[in-house]
Amino acid sequence: MDLVNVDPPQPRERELIVEVQYGGVCGTDIHILHDLYPKAFPPVILGHEFCGIVSELGPDVQGWKVGDRVAVESAADFCRGCEFCRAGETQRCEKRQGFGSGRDGGFASFVATRQDGLYRLPAHVSFQEGALCEPLSCAIHAVMERSSIEPGNTVLVTGPGPIGLLVLQVAKAVGAAVVISGTQGDEERLKIAKRIGADHCVQIEQQDLHLLIYELTGGMGVDVAYECSGVMGALSDCFQGVRKGGEIVQVGLFGRSIEMNYDDVTFKEIQVKGSFTHNRRTWKKAMELLRDRKVDLISLVSGEFPLDQWEEAFRLFEKGMGLKYLLYPID
Ligand SMILES: [Zn+2]
Ligand SMILES: [Zn+2]
Repeated sequence: MDLVNVDPPQPRERELIVEVQYGGVCGTDIHILHDLYPKAFPPVILGHEFCGIVSELGPDVQGWKVGDRVAVESAADFCRGCEFCRAGETQRCEKRQGFGSGRDGGFASFVATRQDGLYRLPAHVSFQEGALCEPLSCAIHAVMERSSIEPGNTVLVTGPGPIGLLVLQVAKAVGAAVVISGTQGDEERLKIAKRIGADHCVQIEQQDLHLLIYELTGGMGVDVAYECSGVMGALSDCFQGVRKGGEIVQVGLFGRSIEMNYDDVTFKEIQVKGSFTHNRRTWKKAMELLRDRKVDLISLVSGEFPLDQWEEAFRLFEKGMGLKYLLYPID
């Protein structure tokens, strides 16, 4: 990976150009850096969590004008014709191309985007927060679209990284009680979790997570466990902590094969579900949550760097220091 000069993108039909304000660094970018992400097709500009200002309209663009403040859906394109696309489940399209992996993304000054992949940022939402609309949508998809969470449920979130803290907030917005767990080194992240609404924050070396879940749920276990870390021990905690007939939603990526005892799926009749990105319905919900100020995104921003310091942002993020680092273009 390197910072290089490229020609600015040209908008095709029904595309426009977004002048990027901020792009967030995410675990997927780290996986791509280490060649652990199978959906990346280099040479490609990274960055799938970005927002900006509409700077140019291509042919046949309607509903947008130069100067509009927008967040950009990370699906650069999909086929629009398959069963999934027609059902609005575009995240399942075989031809889906993601920004920052299949198509040039937001760690750049300008990005060409389809006109129906943009969402107007509410006026009170800053560009720093705008860059977190994509991970927020990932969390909304996991909680509101992939799980059958209900108000009054007790849920477990493993992994207090950016996605885990967003899943926590969306689960709270739905009306659930949330237990969030982390390991040594997650102390700061768990403090933030507490501040933004977690009912119980557990550092697993210090507190017995399963005893707590047992007490909170009368021995039943949590209704839903959201695995947001991509770490084996956390997945085991989900299997142990979920109630019989409950759900585990896998949000984090392991980036490799894992070995585990899978028999609890049978014995406990657990439903294991994956949650991958989001679609147009999800993004509309994201804009509603932002409009109604139901989520706190700015607490997740740990720092911002110009693009030529991307290595520092990646390094801090990979070391697990802080939460979300933002990159911004340089002239
Ligand atoms: Zn991401
Ligand atoms: Zn399709």
